[in-house]
Amino acid sequence: DGRVARIASAIRVIPDFPKPGIMFQDITTLLLDTKAFRDTIDLFVERYKDKDISVVAGIEARGFIFGPPIALAIGAKFVPMRKPNKLPGEVISEEYSLEYGTDTMEMHVGAVQAGERALVIDDLIATGGTLCAALRLLERVGVHVVECACVIELPELKGRDRLGDKPLFVLVNAA
Ligand code: IMP
Repeated sequence: DGRVARIASAIRVIPDFPKPGIMFQDITTLLLDTKAFRDTIDLFVERYKDKDISVVAGIEARGFIFGPPIALAIGAKFVPMRKPNKLPGEVISEEYSLEYGTDTMEMHVGAVQAGERALVIDDLIATGGTLCAALRLLERVGVHVVECACVIELPELKGRDRLGDKPLFVLVNAA
């Protein structure tokens, strides 16, 4: 699929951001390429449109860019998975580990119902800790996560293994 090559080349890599040694995969340049951005959304929509998915759960912050257009196109609702103390209503939260310390992800109570089928979306999977926290939040309330999807995977970090047998779909592998 020639679309994937164009998407891959529209992603910019910024060395030493946010700290020395990190090669930051920057999707803001993908958003500037109207064809590549549309193709990104289309590839996900083609994959998920007939999978009976009622929830697209997007992870803050870049899951909020890709999630809503996919949700609208497949007829699903969009649910934001947010950093702590951002959501105004009652939340459930899940702690997860980072390289240094921990972080927390929150979701509104009542946003999803037990038995719903969800897609979890983010821009990138590195160690997989973030996606795992989103999975746990949704599964705690009885939602079935059909698949996780990211634009970019950093395969060396083996985040895919951390997801266990939960399927992961990515468009681009980055070194
Ligand atoms: P993980 O929890 O280690 O898989 O890290 C994934 C999270 O960190 C995602 O929410 C990403 O948006 C963010 N992240 C880590 N590295 C990068 C990067 O190079 N570019 C953009 N986001 C990144």
